[in-house]
Amino acid sequence: MKDTPLNPATTAVHAGRPARAPGMPVNTPVHFQSIQYSADSPGPGDTFYGRYGNPSWEGLEEVLGQLEGAPVPAVAFSSGMAAIAAALATLLPDGGKLVLPAHAYLSTIAMAKDLAEHRGITVAQVDIADTEAVTQELEGADLLWIESPTNPMLEVADIPALVGAAHAAGARVVADNTFATPLVLKPLDHGVDAVVHSVTKYLAGHSDVVIGAVVPGEAGLREEVAAHRTLYGAIPGPMEAYLALRGMRTVALRVERAQANAAELASRLAGHPALLEVRHPSLPNDPGHARAREQMRGYGSIIGIRVRGGAEAADAVVGRTELWLPATSLGGVESSLERRRRLTAEVHTVPEDYIRMSVGIEDVEDLWADLSQALEAAVEEVGGA
Ligand SMILES: *Cc1c(COP(=O)(O)O)cnc(C)c1O
Repeated sequence: MKDTPLNPATTAVHAGRPARAPGMPVNTPVHFQSIQYSADSPGPGDTFYGRYGNPSWEGLEEVLGQLEGAPVPAVAFSSGMAAIAAALATLLPDGGKLVLPAHAYLSTIAMAKDLAEHRGITVAQVDIADTEAVTQELEGADLLWIESPTNPMLEVADIPALVGAAHAAGARVVADNTFATPLVLKPLDHGVDAVVHSVTKYLAGHSDVVIGAVVPGEAGLREEVAAHRTLYGAIPGPMEAYLALRGMRTVALRVERAQANAAELASRLAGHPALLEVRHPSLPNDPGHARAREQMRGYGSIIGIRVRGGAEAADAVVGRTELWLPATSLGGVESSLERRRRLTAEVHTVPEDYIRMSVGIEDVEDLWADLSQALEAAVEEVGGA
């Protein structure tokens, strides 16, 4: 056993538990404390004061670090955005150049723009699926930011090629692995310097907690990121860390089921008369299919559809669903969908008629029945098709 690396589904269940000893709990307890008895002087990771460390974070950090194949535990933050802010602060010098996907999580883009305005950062946005275009922008860059598949347009990046090009240009690389999860994609294996997560989504998986993490690729970076958390104070609450770890125990099962549901739904949606386009990397004619097959273990469980008849028809589809939740966010056990451009901050190259669907773990026939009745009802209502 000792020398055999565990498979991810086993790691998710067994890693990060208290030491095995009679009387010890099998689950990491929730430590509601701002202080604990200590005679020692403070150091990194010291738990003498609650902003420096809390034992409630440790199980979650251990599991996530191991799942990503990191040499060190993850560093948990109060949200995905707090983790992203810490990664940018640690890896991007003031006045430096950041290369960012044109389609990325909208608050990541907003944060980059804020840094450009107030911290003298130069931001270059590129089609992350276009390796040639990214490589050109890497000249003089300090940091390449990767999302793959991207939010919300599901473009798939050639991660090994991009990492090679970035490192050759002297830039470091961060991957936001929220969409894929480490069960599906392990960016550290492809050489990225750090991974960030909105743990809020698939990892926690139940739409009941907001929490984030940075997974550093080496120990020195972990110290820097943890020091940033201690100083700026974006720490996760103990209850949130507990809920996230509890959710992560089942992440392998949930991701497997959600991916199977998504692939089945995508193949049924492809060619549907009410739709202009279906995006899911599982579809053989999807532009990201070949890369996803090479880099990923599965194709993720976010689907994009473009509804004939524009924004009005897309809103009608969302409005007519009874089971699918009309809600933002993704990665929960429950299926949800959203017309992204209803958010004024969404990038304007995302089509008005585009619906992002987060496929959950329900029975696929129930999901299909609800979706197909909503599509038909919307066609009748708006006459889009
Ligand atoms: C939700 C999300 C974030 C932000 O995470 P929060 O936990 O909401 O702060 C970052 N990246 C991606 C891809 C996301 O989906």
